[in-house]
Amino acid sequence: MKLAQFFQGQELQLGIVEGEKLSPLVFTGDFHAWLKAGKPLTTTGMTLQLDQVKLAAPVNRPGKIIAIGLNYADHAAEGKRDAPKQPLVFAKFPNSVIGPDEAITWSATITEKVDFEAELAVVIGEKTSSCQPDEALSKVLGYTCGNDVSARDLQFGDKQFVRGKSLDTFCPLGPWLVTADELKDPQKLAIRSRLNGKIMQESNTADMIFPVAELLSFLSRHFTLEPGDIIMTGTPSGVGVFREPPIFMQNGDLIEIEIEGIGTLKNLCRNKI
Ligand code: MG
Repeated sequence: MKLAQFFQGQELQLGIVEGEKLSPLVFTGDFHAWLKAGKPLTTTGMTLQLDQVKLAAPVNRPGKIIAIGLNYADHAAEGKRDAPKQPLVFAKFPNSVIGPDEAITWSATITEKVDFEAELAVVIGEKTSSCQPDEALSKVLGYTCGNDVSARDLQFGDKQFVRGKSLDTFCPLGPWLVTADELKDPQKLAIRSRLNGKIMQESNTADMIFPVAELLSFLSRHFTLEPGDIIMTGTPSGVGVFREPPIFMQNGDLIEIEIEGIGTLKNLCRNKI
């Protein structure tokens, strides 16, 4: 099932996407209220045209966003880094989340090296601590496309990640989440990014060094994972900063993240004046 969050005026509401249609849930309230209410799935019976609806991120304001660095060997190699022996963990602040078709924005006084990273984003479905890899996928509510937008000048200048990865709008998620019952194996999904229509990254989640089940098990031994938490599982090679010459996103650019079985997340770039 494709579960989307959309705007009803100023309020967020959930619905189920089928083809070009969206069926609103009877339940009124946002994703977090829906989790608290026990994930009711009854639909109203009416349908809306998807292209007439303004979608939001499938998870607005997650409790935490845990991101994994260097989780594809070809990406570690392009950055001239050894593949990590255990997951490299960092955080993005929840204020960075935006939805599909919202603008990624930044001020040139803060950064001039804004890069894209196509990532499979995992949405946690139940409270989890110290789980084993073989039970980890049962804790997943679903999967969505994520863009781990990165201000490389801040990231490399600071020698740690949080500022360069957490600017407002730097974590696009969407266009919806696909529930885990429909995506039983998250390790065989084609993943790509396109900048202004040109393919920049093209890989498969089979190439992750630490697969989703191992990541969740590892993370849950350190921090309790809560429903609605997001795990960004790392990006394959082809990011802008390691190209010759480097490519950074510019005002007016369109960046797309596409993952097999999920869909395509599209965001325009806008400089703040
Ligand atoms: Mg990343």
